[in-house]
Amino acid sequence: MKNLLIMKFGGTSMGSAERMRVAADIIAEHGKQWPLVVVVSAMSKVTDLLLETMRRAELGDRSVIETNVKTLLDQHLATCEQLLDGPGSAALRAAASDAIRSLVAEFERITNGIAMLGERPPRSVDEAVAVGERLSSVLLSFHLESIGVRARSVNAAEVIVTDAVFGNASPLMPATIAKCAEKLVPLLEAGVLPVVTGFNAATADGRPTTLGRGGSDFSASILASALDAEELWIWTDVDGIMSADPRLVEDVSILHEVTYSEAAELAYNGAKVLHPRTLAPLAEKQIPVWSKNSFDRRKPGTKIVSHFDEPKGVRAVTSMSNVALVSMEPSASLSGTRLMARSLDALALANVEILVFSSSSYRQSFCFLIRKTDVPVALEALESNLTLELAHGYLKPIEVDENVGLLAVVGEGMRGIPGLAGRVFTAISRENINIIVISQGSSELTIAMVVRLDGLERAVRAVHKECRVPEVSAVGEPVVS
Ligand code: ADP
Ligand code: ASP
Ligand code: MG
Repeated sequence: MKNLLIMKFGGTSMGSAERMRVAADIIAEHGKQWPLVVVVSAMSKVTDLLLETMRRAELGDRSVIETNVKTLLDQHLATCEQLLDGPGSAALRAAASDAIRSLVAEFERITNGIAMLGERPPRSVDEAVAVGERLSSVLLSFHLESIGVRARSVNAAEVIVTDAVFGNASPLMPATIAKCAEKLVPLLEAGVLPVVTGFNAATADGRPTTLGRGGSDFSASILASALDAEELWIWTDVDGIMSADPRLVEDVSILHEVTYSEAAELAYNGAKVLHPRTLAPLAEKQIPVWSKNSFDRRKPGTKIVSHFDEPKGVRAVTSMSNVALVSMEPSASLSGTRLMARSLDALALANVEILVFSSSSYRQSFCFLIRKTDVPVALEALESNLTLELAHGYLKPIEVDENVGLLAVVGEGMRGIPGLAGRVFTAISRENINIIVISQGSSELTIAMVVRLDGLERAVRAVHKECRVPEVSAVGEPVVS
């Protein structure tokens, strides 16, 4: 759609009535110039609360359900009171609180069902967890109406169509494009701003799904691609994409521009500022993305672009701590390659994502890094596929080391810098930190390393210091040296 802008507001940008007012201000300002679609996250911490409530419900802990449902209701009703506090907003306030009560009741009904069953069916979890985003979209859309912006809360289950991988679904684009044309375009043409829930979606036959934790970024990029948007702006709580996680490293610099590939590598290797799959739907159509700070609107933010004329060396250091290293060692009589193929096949079928893979040619042993949360499913998949080999000692017992972390150095221009890997390894070893695995993809965009968990943060700081490169501003001028 011509000139369409998609804006996504994250959990902290929706975290209170005050933050929602700021979001609405931003929307009202830009909505005068562009047709807008807004995508919202749940208020910060709400998704954690919903998931924890369902976990405890499965254990039959009914008192937690009661307490948490009350917390959920109170928080959203209080925010509603604060947002819609004008005398002229009484009717809107009543309608919004009715909508809030019925959404919280929906969550309570599903959670009680989980307690009764003693089981959390993934589909029910996806349906219930989407209540967080549905609540925040109701709050923001009613508030927009109250300040004179015509807006409508839209449940993404009606516009984003996915496969049936509950908890980590992938979009089916042709069906999503058709739904967007049917549900969103008429609203836009009527001058009504859709406030779409991030994170959730549904299968073609209407079963609720979600796109993985932090998935509202991905929702926004799916909609940007489906609607052929002009740009996507992702509003968060930091000044843009930085050379490292500002919570770990003090002297980070803001990256004024990064390429789609750099941003994707950063996100896949742990930079929480973007959901890992955000860039995929956009890169093909080259829709520019901005990462901006809703707490400081004057800052330009980071622009994600398709390419640089001149590559810029190391751009950022990222890390992940919630990972586990799985090691497999076959006996000499077994083909290591065949074992790898079977293991990878089993992991793929179980939807386990491999973050780093490394093998040694002599012993044919290999190891791979996965998310800690995937360990039970991965072990189950491997052990059930390799029962005989394990029973007869052709394969040593599978080892899992959770005391590790991933560190990655990312940058398009790294290809052209001889000796860079050596400098990175030296910086880590100066800190007396042991590197367990090293892996560099064929694109040479990323060097990934697995290190001991207790040295991870020190390693990030040491590598960041070692690799500090001049940052370049959006107009191509060096801004720090
Ligand atoms: P939102 O709720 O807006 O989606 P997130 O908490 O998911 O925000 O992501 C923003 C956070 O990502 C920041 O507060 C920051 O701590 C963290 N972060 C990690 N790595 C980076 C990085 N390289 N650049 C910017 N932020 C990062
Ligand atoms: N609310 C969801 C989460 O916390 C999605 C998001 O915020 O992007 O994971
Ligand atoms: Mg996020």
